[in-house]
Amino acid sequence: MARKCSVCEHDDLAEINSELASGEPLRTIADRWSVSKTELMRHRNYHLSVSAIMAKEVEEIAQANDFLDQITRSSGTHSVYPRQGRRGRGA
Ligand SMILES: [Zn+2]
Repeated sequence: MARKCSVCEHDDLAEINSELASGEPLRTIADRWSVSKTELMRHRNYHLSVSAIMAKEVEEIAQANDFLDQITRSSGTHSVYPRQGRRGRGA
């Protein structure tokens, strides 16, 4: 975990990641960014999978939340507030 990954430290990490994610051949990517194929492979297995999946999940969760928010808003959130107002203690 503490070991540095030359791909993670690469200036163009985002580009490399997207190429890896899009299924470009390792040799092509390695060649293009002057990193070793072995490093790329290790990076893909141990680093990219996690960050790519996480990024995807975060995006999906955000979308889901957005969707829920829309449903909640359109289906009766407003009914909560009047009820709270009417049930004042001691009134
Ligand atoms: Zn890495």
